[in-house]
Amino acid sequence: MSTKEIPYKIYLNENEMPEYWYNVRADMKNKPAPLLNPGTHKPMTAEELEGVFCSELVKQELDDTNRRIPIPKEIRDFYKMYRPSPLVRAYCLEKKLDTPAKIYYKFEGNNTSGSHKLNSAIAQAYYAKEQGLKGVTTETGAGQWGTALSMACAYLGLDCKVFMVKCSYEQKPFRREVMRTYGADVTPSPSDKTEVGRKMLAEFPGTTGSLGCAISEAVEAAVTQKGYRYVLGSVLSQVLLHQSIIGMECKTALDKYGIKPDIIIGCAGGGSNLGGLISPFMGEKLRGEQDYRIIAVEPASCPSLTRGVFAYDFCDTGKVCPLAKMYTLGSSFIPSANHAGGLRYHGMSSVLSQLYHDGYMEAMTVEQTAVFKAAEDFARIEGILPAPESSHAIKAAIDEALKCKETGEEKTILFGLTGTGYFDMLAYQSFNDGKMADYIPSDADLKKGFDGIPKFPGNEF
Ligand SMILES: *Cc1c(COP(=O)(O)O)cnc(C)c1O
Repeated sequence: MSTKEIPYKIYLNENEMPEYWYNVRADMKNKPAPLLNPGTHKPMTAEELEGVFCSELVKQELDDTNRRIPIPKEIRDFYKMYRPSPLVRAYCLEKKLDTPAKIYYKFEGNNTSGSHKLNSAIAQAYYAKEQGLKGVTTETGAGQWGTALSMACAYLGLDCKVFMVKCSYEQKPFRREVMRTYGADVTPSPSDKTEVGRKMLAEFPGTTGSLGCAISEAVEAAVTQKGYRYVLGSVLSQVLLHQSIIGMECKTALDKYGIKPDIIIGCAGGGSNLGGLISPFMGEKLRGEQDYRIIAVEPASCPSLTRGVFAYDFCDTGKVCPLAKMYTLGSSFIPSANHAGGLRYHGMSSVLSQLYHDGYMEAMTVEQTAVFKAAEDFARIEGILPAPESSHAIKAAIDEALKCKETGEEKTILFGLTGTGYFDMLAYQSFNDGKMADYIPSDADLKKGFDGIPKFPGNEF
């Protein structure tokens, strides 16, 4: 089929939307390592996990054999309000770059929360509701996850308690107000509402908080209140499962036009959007049916895949969560204060970590000034104001397209445009004012984080 026949936007009909999530773990020979009980170092049982998470989500978390998990009709109906999301052929960007490469992006910013996170938020809220719970607790850093969860909970009539990293709570008042508008109870973290929070405040008065600490507070709030469970917006295997909707829609749309991507690129924080985008493609790769180059892009200031170690580590600062085997910088790692581009979690999804470890995907880092330059170029050329997180993928896609210009190769590049950046204008301001700087942690900086990784037999790194 000639290039001319491919529209700017490839939409699917509602009846072409996936009716199940694809569980990539089913096709992995080396399964991701199980979550461990931090006390006994034994695999977490379903029963133990059910103290913290909803039962059906525990089932999904532990399921590494079923390929297809049906999406309940209620969730599919909610998806229809903002999905299928468009797959865009970046004709304008290709022209501007004067590249023979064909560039596509899957745009997940077409909903009020502004990102892909709503795909998992509605699933998690739905299962909490099904279980007859009163509400859910969670943490949010930049605020996208908290916003998505607030929307999902409002829709289903669930109570939603969000612990928001204090510096974001103060820097992003509009995010906070969106959440409150959707009915969420938003608390700056560390707070005096939890044991962990009070301890943190006593030890580090004036701290502006961290994602790891907010997680500990949210978990504590869930396990100490009747009728509540904790939900998490990334990292967990269940979240990657829900996000597979991105890749499934994408694959259906590409297949319609007989398009096969050569390179698939996504930004990687905890790994959920990338894991979701690549799922069906990775499945083909794992089964030996097709080959794709798959690239995870992370900030040079928070390089968990590229410079982290592959080991069991704590998922949170308070060390209340199960241990996960992943590429990690250590749970005490906090990116430098001038880091503005999101993707600041210290670890990476166990699924992606295992796939990366086994050589099924690549990882690279980019510095934030280059990321914001790519974001600005993209906004001016393609019109969408991208989230800084998404712009990591934009930067890598542009660089790959420019390589094609040099070699004359007509590669097809697909990347995930995970969201919009309207609430990140302070970061854009710093870039526009020429005040943004790059900071790459030294090996000595990283060592401090590695020193906090738990040591026990079998966890050598
Ligand atoms: C949260 C977020 C990310 C990073 O999270 P992952 O779990 O790695 O996908 C990327 N882009 C946007 C817009 C986000 O909100």
